[in-house]
Amino acid sequence: MTETWTTLKVLNWTKGYLAEKGVENARLEAEWLLCAALGMDRVGLYVNFDKPLTSVELAACRALVSRRARREPLQYILGSQDFYGLDFEVAPGVLIPRHDTETLVQEAAVRCPPRGKVLDIGVGSGCIAIALAKALPGIGITGCDASKDALELAERNAARHGVSLELVHGSLFEPFTGRTFDLIVSNPPYIPTADLDTLQPEVRDHEPRQALDGGIDGLDFYRRMVPEALCHLDAGGWLVLEIGMGQAPAVAGLFEATGGFREIFSARDPGGIERVIGGRKV
Ligand code: GLN
Repeated sequence: MTETWTTLKVLNWTKGYLAEKGVENARLEAEWLLCAALGMDRVGLYVNFDKPLTSVELAACRALVSRRARREPLQYILGSQDFYGLDFEVAPGVLIPRHDTETLVQEAAVRCPPRGKVLDIGVGSGCIAIALAKALPGIGITGCDASKDALELAERNAARHGVSLELVHGSLFEPFTGRTFDLIVSNPPYIPTADLDTLQPEVRDHEPRQALDGGIDGLDFYRRMVPEALCHLDAGGWLVLEIGMGQAPAVAGLFEATGGFREIFSARDPGGIERVIGGRKV
């Protein structure tokens, strides 16, 4: 006799399986995965608890659940992540937007002049650039990334939100010889290389290293970006950067060492961690 797998039975089994694999919010994640696999919302899931699933439906659930059991991030499986109140497409190969980075958007937005020219270095999914464009209509935003996958994703996200971005392939300031901006923002890779192996499996095994690895002390990108930004800012223009935990004094020191910045500031994320450093070109 073949067993009958109702929605509820599959949900309970999935919850136990994910928990066993180390997934923290196993019950909630099991619900989201089943919703995605079955093409329903959570109310739909609840009202169908007693319904036996077909073999096709079971296979669809199994496919998504096994990806999550391998600790692939839920966002890659579901294909989206909320950032700054906007829904972004996410895809393997490109860093998933973090809520911590909303602090960078806020600190940049209050410093951007009307109709300003903005550059986002390492645009990734486009979340920072698009959130700024939505918050400040009239500004012009350029994003660059060393990853072509990222640029394609940023383009799709820009279209999704009805925003136009200039997207350029290249590393740091390389594509911008002779160009200047009113505001430069970046969330560069800042994890010290040796710490990468200590991160949770979702990040360590599934998110792109090139978006995370900041070199031996995590500061490689700041060492290049802070002095080079002075060649690409108009007088009075701002450089506003996301930083990792504990990096504020060292990065503020890099701003000071150039002698080319004033009004150097730091800002904390909602968790109280210094998350952003910025300064204004003299
Ligand atoms: N905040 C990210 C993390 O902790 C790191 C992002 C970055 O290196 N810029 O996973």
